Amino acid sequence: MLTIDSLCWLCLQPLRIARHGVCSVCLTLIPKLPSCCPRCGLPARSEKVPCPECRARPPAWSQLIAVSDYVYPLKWLIARLKFQREDKYAPTLARLMLLAWLEARRRRGLMRPDLLLPVPLHRMRHWRRGFNQSERVVRLLSKWAGCRTHASALVRIRATQPQQSLEAQRRKDNLLGAFACRADVRGLHVAIFDDVVTTGSTVEEIGQLLLHHGAASVQVWCLCRTLKSESK
Ligand SMILES: [Zn+2]
Ligand SMILES: [Zn+2]
Repeated sequence: MLTIDSLCWLCLQPLRIARHGVCSVCLTLIPKLPSCCPRCGLPARSEKVPCPECRARPPAWSQLIAVSDYVYPLKWLIARLKFQREDKYAPTLARLMLLAWLEARRRRGLMRPDLLLPVPLHRMRHWRRGFNQSERVVRLLSKWAGCRTHASALVRIRATQPQQSLEAQRRKDNLLGAFACRADVRGLHVAIFDDVVTTGSTVEEIGQLLLHHGAASVQVWCLCRTLKSESK
């Protein structure tokens, strides 16, 4: 007998592998990324050399990997992961992230990080939502990618307004001093995971913090990199 979970979440057709959640046909709906700068992850002529923007103003991280743009169907899945108190979306999203990482290793020799850390939610938001969705994805990903994780290494020490509601400059100001690092990251290659990177101000703030604490390098892993130019 088919239960609701043996159907693809998107097209509601029966799934061959129930735990994958999304069928192979719907997976092809995830748009392939265009040629993107390896550092900021925005469309660029070369996938190997950082774009002129990154060469002029290098971000705090050295490499960025993303599964796709912030559009359907990933956008839909991330919204489910975030706002429905259900665990079932995390493995599917972690699997997609893992595939993007393996692809980046194959194509541009991306280094395996020593430590993979989720971008923290503030305690209040964490409490209201009941969990940090990134933490669940990271727990699986770190196991599969063979690196360590540390759920409380990064903490949000100040509540901030939701970034979506702010413009680029205000996003940066909103985050100043918002995070603290509670782990010894000296000499480690650290990757930070966030579900969506839009202006990059959250991962920039955390990247700087990690470098300040002696991290050898910082990578950014995200499910979606918003590609629309007005969001930059
Ligand atoms: Zn489907
Ligand atoms: Zn760039």
